[in-house]
Amino acid sequence: MNSSTSSQHLILQPFWDYLLTEFSSSVNSPVFPVLLAFSGYVCFSFPFAVIDMMGVQCHFFYQYKIQKNKQPTIRMMTVCIWKAVFNHVIYVFPTVFLNWLCMPPVSLPVSAPSVCTLLGEVLGCLLLFDLQYFIWHVLHHKNYWLYKKVHAVHHEYVAPFSWSSQNLSGYELMTVGFWSTMNPIQLGCHPLTSWTCNLLSIWMSVDDHIGYDFPWSLHRIFPLGLYGGALAHDLHHQKPGTNFSPFFRHWDIICGTSCSMSEKA
Ligand SMILES: [Zn+2]
Ligand SMILES: [Zn+2]
Repeated sequence: MNSSTSSQHLILQPFWDYLLTEFSSSVNSPVFPVLLAFSGYVCFSFPFAVIDMMGVQCHFFYQYKIQKNKQPTIRMMTVCIWKAVFNHVIYVFPTVFLNWLCMPPVSLPVSAPSVCTLLGEVLGCLLLFDLQYFIWHVLHHKNYWLYKKVHAVHHEYVAPFSWSSQNLSGYELMTVGFWSTMNPIQLGCHPLTSWTCNLLSIWMSVDDHIGYDFPWSLHRIFPLGLYGGALAHDLHHQKPGTNFSPFFRHWDIICGTSCSMSEKA
């Protein structure tokens, strides 16, 4: 191991040691991934719910709202939160618990990944998820039966808001949960990569649905406009035959399904 690689390992090792010492039994519990996913959804969504509730009274944020004539109500937010709770209790936790019973967790590695390994693995997992969901998403829009039975729930709102990222059928939540959990395992990634990927996927999914085009949003600073974010996904809810990718834009550009604000009309 050369000196730069070993120094990269050293960056994450104290954090990893702390996790192993303080939380090794907790992270191996079947409750951990469910709590991580649900608390991520709540923490990432809540600040934007506050911005939504301030509405037009807070011009600083309201000026960036994409569909200014459509404001989410408290009732709409509550329905989404309850649907997320229902899906996690009825579908996600029993599945994770069954999987935990059938395949008891293996012991965690002693070494942390290097920063480069973590970043590379995270990017690889996100790109794989992006392709998987793109194909799934196109299929569930092109096939009327699949759309009606599975994906239509998510299109209940033409103007997305943060809590609506998990306004999903149980089957759709299970599918995306399966990929975000299994991709890092299948690719042989470090557990820290898996947890980082899970949280990042949830954050990016909330970011897709915030309904605001902030100047500091990731899609404004990502190179070559290849990250979709809130603007691209808001347009998908307005024009459901476009912008199928969940995170990036390259598959929509390659397949001719990309739509920008100037092309909307
Ligand atoms: Zn959506
Ligand atoms: Zn859709």
